[in-house]
Amino acid sequence: MGQGKRMNPIIPNKKSGNLFILSGPSGVGKTTLREALQKKIPGLRFSVSWTTRSQRPGEIMDQDYRFVSKKQFEHKIKADGFLEWAKVHNEYYGTPWLPIKRWLHKGSDVLLDIDIQGARKVKKRIPQALIIFILPPSKQELKKRLIHRETESRTKIQIRLKNAETELQAVKHCDFVMVNQEISFSVEALETIIKAARFRVKNRF
Ligand code: 5GP
Repeated sequence: MGQGKRMNPIIPNKKSGNLFILSGPSGVGKTTLREALQKKIPGLRFSVSWTTRSQRPGEIMDQDYRFVSKKQFEHKIKADGFLEWAKVHNEYYGTPWLPIKRWLHKGSDVLLDIDIQGARKVKKRIPQALIIFILPPSKQELKKRLIHRETESRTKIQIRLKNAETELQAVKHCDFVMVNQEISFSVEALETIIKAARFRVKNRF
């Protein structure tokens, strides 16, 4: 075939981004993993959730969460502005739909850090989404990490540990599972999953 002549591509160029959902019990290390991944994979978009829980020291508005009042949150529910929302540990958390829709259409990969109820709701609406479940090395280790974090009161830690029991049963609904023992190993494994998913046939047709 002559040079310069336009050839039909063998596979269509149409390509939407992948939606990855990092899920797992509170205190398992999802935030640390997500931050490390964002540094390693340029262009990976992180969806900033809305929440009614109070801002912790060091958290940045619109970077960690959009911190809103209950009224604002309920208004957005009514306006159908969430891809999913859930009441987690007695507070509202929700994933705004519009930025995700735009990024996926443009071909960008998007990462969510949400609880398992939310992850399953997203998967119902977007079956191509991939849920990656992060497990703690043990239940004792999870408790240790939650206490060490010093972000929650004793009562709140108890609620989170109780919820973790139920959440751990959800592994069977996920696409990938990994034990977060060694951060650098977990980050490398996540990077491999994200990069491999870019070759999925499902994204092209
Ligand atoms: P934290 O209060 O520790 O930041 O988060 C508590 C839990 O809420 C975590 O398991 C986190 O993954 C989850 N979460 C954060 N954002 C969302 C969201 O938009 N939707 C749902 N369903 N869960 C979320």
